[in-house]
Amino acid sequence: ELHEKIQNLKGNIRVLCRVRPPVVNESDRSLCNINYVDEGTIELRNRENHKSEFIFDQVFPPEATQMELFEDMAGLVQSALDGYNVCVFAYGQTGSGKTYTMQGGQTDSTVGMFCNLYFSYKYSVDPLISMSSVTNGIIPRSMDLLFATINKLKKVGWEYTLQVSFLEIYNETIRDLLDNHPKHHEIRYNEGKGVTVTNLKIQPIASVEEFHELMETAWKYRAVASTNFNEHSSRSHAVTKIYINGVNSESGLVYRGSLNLIDLAGSESAKTSSDERLQETKNINRSLSALGTVILALSNKDNHIPFRNSKLTYLLQSSLAGNSKTMMVVNISPLDECYGETMNSLRFAFKVK
Ligand code: ADP
Ligand code: MG
Repeated sequence: ELHEKIQNLKGNIRVLCRVRPPVVNESDRSLCNINYVDEGTIELRNRENHKSEFIFDQVFPPEATQMELFEDMAGLVQSALDGYNVCVFAYGQTGSGKTYTMQGGQTDSTVGMFCNLYFSYKYSVDPLISMSSVTNGIIPRSMDLLFATINKLKKVGWEYTLQVSFLEIYNETIRDLLDNHPKHHEIRYNEGKGVTVTNLKIQPIASVEEFHELMETAWKYRAVASTNFNEHSSRSHAVTKIYINGVNSESGLVYRGSLNLIDLAGSESAKTSSDERLQETKNINRSLSALGTVILALSNKDNHIPFRNSKLTYLLQSSLAGNSKTMMVVNISPLDECYGETMNSLRFAFKVK
């Protein structure tokens, strides 16, 4: 019997696992044999009935809602307002639900609004954060909560300003998604300022609406600039960064935090023979494994953290180290045909423990 365990992560790194439901056109496909043993334990059986068990900080079965997943995130939004650098990653093979987790789905309904209100009641969450549409993922929900909280904090003397940047890393090259005149970008490290990206547009945002407008612009540009959007988006890391600055008018206290919300490139192994694709896949695998190594080194409190092994980890260096909190959502497909990749994803998370 194969028996693997992921210890509960102590400290500031949390690893969650989310299994998506089968989607409409998958109704005739056979599903993995998955057992939800308890809140944090998932058990998979292969066709020979071999059992593998993995333990996470929390496991979300297919019926879990965006709202439930966000409960884990709500505290991190508060941390970012308190001056922490927060990183949230969606990891998994293409089609496992990363974008759904980070951004969300399309559908919206009145029933959904009631579901949200029900959840805010059930979990004593501020109803303001349940104003998001049901299928909204971590990014829009975080922004809703961020602005709702900032408005409350105004009354007690806190003045917050927010800025945003959207970028993607494709084949180890950075592209600014708010700038449709392609420029060359370098990552710079400076003791005082931390990591910065040259030529990157950082836009102020005064309202949720402004944020959504910018995000739409960014995502449109991402789609336009690529010949095959789905293919491209599954092969690039998309990084949404919110820069948070808070000043208390009475005490003069200053908080500087950030939210880094990352839709990672698909983790699947190469199924192609073309040289160009193979190079891309190598870069993706290298950056994902660099990320895993860095998170592991951080949770072990190693002296040397190998941030410079990939653009992704170098970019996130100041947000992953020091005053930081990290959450990784390992997304999993329920399909039997994905069993191999699912095991790879779970093992990756095991390595990160
Ligand atoms: P990825 O970004 O990992 O490639 P997607 O987020 O695009 O995967 O998800 C693949 C499909 O599954 C999409 O049609 C998406 O809407 C759907 N989906 C993913 N997760 C869920 C979920 N939790 N509930 C309902 N549909 C989901
Ligand atoms: Mg995606």
